[in-house]
Amino acid sequence: MYAPPGVKTSPDLPIPDAMKAWVLGNPGELKLAEKPVPVPKRAEVLVRIDAVAICATDLEIIDHGSPAMFLGGKPFNKNFTPGHEYMGTVVALGPGVDEYRIGQRITVEVHAGCGQCKRCREGMYTSCHNYGLNYGDVDKGHRANGFTTDGGFCEYQVNNINTLVAIPDTMSDEEATLVVTAGTAMYGLTELGGLVAGESVVVTGPGPIGLLGVAVAKAMGAYPVILTGTRDNRLKIGRELGADFVVNVRSENAVEAVRKLNGGKGVDYVVECSGAPNAVTEAVHMVNRGGKVCLAAFPHEQTPVDVAHIVRNNIYLYGIRGEGKSATHRAEAFMTQKRFDATKIHTHTFALDDLPTAIRYAKERIDDAIKVVVKARGVAARQVAAE
Ligand SMILES: [Zn+2]
Ligand SMILES: [Zn+2]
Repeated sequence: MYAPPGVKTSPDLPIPDAMKAWVLGNPGELKLAEKPVPVPKRAEVLVRIDAVAICATDLEIIDHGSPAMFLGGKPFNKNFTPGHEYMGTVVALGPGVDEYRIGQRITVEVHAGCGQCKRCREGMYTSCHNYGLNYGDVDKGHRANGFTTDGGFCEYQVNNINTLVAIPDTMSDEEATLVVTAGTAMYGLTELGGLVAGESVVVTGPGPIGLLGVAVAKAMGAYPVILTGTRDNRLKIGRELGADFVVNVRSENAVEAVRKLNGGKGVDYVVECSGAPNAVTEAVHMVNRGGKVCLAAFPHEQTPVDVAHIVRNNIYLYGIRGEGKSATHRAEAFMTQKRFDATKIHTHTFALDDLPTAIRYAKERIDDAIKVVVKARGVAARQVAAE
């Protein structure tokens, strides 16, 4: 029975010593294994994972390793468990923790900075200077679960209390996995853009962050909110989440269409969520003079950018990493108030045992999949269900 010294548990939520966990072998290869249930240290809790969403970044990590950095290098064949968009129930408290109680439902954000570097001290823990240093004699205590430490495609995980967001019972497990996605959009808009109600926003790329970027911008009072993309079914969901206008860039010139929709002028902000090769140059031509562009997507290749236009027009470019400055708490506040319905982007739920199928749905966008969630409990595995 799980009873590590100094860790508080409850007989109401008994914890096994071992758990199921998916581990990454060679690139693209996931295996279901058994691991010991991890033990929370000071300022950490043990979370029973109730639901975890698959992110495009997980697919990237599983196939290519980057941007995960585990034990100082690529995460392959190191018994590493990916997955970072999870929620669950607090089941054990590490030493010194009284901020959360056992049995409390929470969702998590990814990055727990080291707390001792310059950026962490400034509140920019997603830009921690000790990123990935959490092992051996370089242990700075940094964690980014599913990137630099074990993640959520398993039954239990430890999380620093600073990465927890309490959620109400009115929020479903599936919806709670989307708080971190909305939090990423919120980080881009509030911390880097400084959006004031009534200002105009373009979101490029209707992936999960882009779609929730539309929702957050609208909830913050932006007008107009314009979404650009290539797929009409995604643009339609963008409309449902609050886009005032949508532009299909296959049939229209995106820059011209945006300028026309905003009365011939450029917009105040662009949130670039597409990662397309021409996206940055298009974005800087969509904003007005002095406008701001937030870069939230990782492009695969280095891309040429119209620097002269940026300088001549005093345009600001911001790269954002993850969901910093506690933006997840503000995103959760919007979602709890039902200012937008994030569940519009959740399309499928599978059992944790069916993770490879779930990943295939996410990767190949089978059945118009957007956010695919896996759950350790309450969902019958397909193999079992088929028998
Ligand atoms: Zn993610
Ligand atoms: Zn740090």
